[in-house]
Amino acid sequence: MRATARPRVAVLDRPRAALVAGGAGFLGSHLCDRLLDEGWRVTCLDNLLTGSLSNLAEALRDPRFDFLRGDVTEPLDGLLYGRLFDRVYNLACAASPPLYQADPEHTLLTSVVGTKQLLDVARANGARFLQASTSEVYGDPMVHPQPESYWGHVNATGPRACYDEGKRCAETLVFDYLRAGRGDARVARIFNTYGPRMSAADGRVVSTMIAQALAGEDLTIFGDGTQTRSFCYVDDLIRGLMALMECAEPIDGAVNLGNPDEFTVAELAERVILATGSRSRTVSKRLPVDDPKRRRPDISRATEVLGWRPETDLETGLSATVAWFRRTSAVADAQAEM
Ligand code: NAD
Repeated sequence: MRATARPRVAVLDRPRAALVAGGAGFLGSHLCDRLLDEGWRVTCLDNLLTGSLSNLAEALRDPRFDFLRGDVTEPLDGLLYGRLFDRVYNLACAASPPLYQADPEHTLLTSVVGTKQLLDVARANGARFLQASTSEVYGDPMVHPQPESYWGHVNATGPRACYDEGKRCAETLVFDYLRAGRGDARVARIFNTYGPRMSAADGRVVSTMIAQALAGEDLTIFGDGTQTRSFCYVDDLIRGLMALMECAEPIDGAVNLGNPDEFTVAELAERVILATGSRSRTVSKRLPVDDPKRRRPDISRATEVLGWRPETDLETGLSATVAWFRRTSAVADAQAEM
């Protein structure tokens, strides 16, 4: 590893084109916007399972942006015929437990077949590939905080396995691809990320609590609330993903991207109540099966190799997210009245 913390960005000598699979989702749509801001042509490939075109409202007005509706588990040649890419980002996969557990077989195939197919697309284009992996590859960790060298503690047969094991297998595919000398590829292990465009109904902790607080409902805490999470604001995460993709030197191994500030779920509930000014209280429900008790990234690798670290604290990020939830629910109310 280098001693300096300066990112090295590759300069391409022709207009740059990126394929973003899963680009209509929460993270993918922010990535599409940032790529467009930085001068890329962007093709988004998404089956709209958990994403939506409303996330792409700005991007769709840009002539350099194209949306293709398709499923990464289906053959892609026809859909992508005649298109050339310099970069392939794979973010396709439902990320919220109730949604990825709704069709576990499809979730698993999305990670395994989808990653294999998108690696083939990258190889055919001579494009660099980035896989959006997850902190869930560490399962319910026995090592804390989690460095990339930790192999994880995952239940291979539980209800979360379709996601966790799918993502682990996708990582295996990427590293076999690299070992076989087929091309350049990077793996980001993303930790809990929040921000505007999260769906209020998808069961993720930050969006669920904000929606409950704004509706004046009790905030649900699963278990006793002492389990910890670290929450990364979306802008920081997207900056990290792009830095990882554009790092000029090949990267040996996966890279954790997340915010190392650790909060208990009960503390998060307090922060959400403060950020919304709500009078809501908290209510406990039974902890779901295999829910990890502690989660916090060791980001020394991302800092050393990419010069990356999160810049947005929880208070600032929550306030931006709450403002977005307020704006979108005001728009929805106005539309309902029309
Ligand atoms: P999301 O559900 O909002 O976005 C996923 C997108 O992929 C959606 O637009 C969905 O329609 C699309 N998709 C799902 N299956 C597909 C398929 N078979 N073919 C084509 N498109 C498909 O989730 P997100 O939070 O934006 O997560 C994006 C990626 O980042 C996922 O791969 C997820 O595993 C990873 N990740 C996210 C987080 C987080 O906190 N948000 C944490 C760790 C990892």
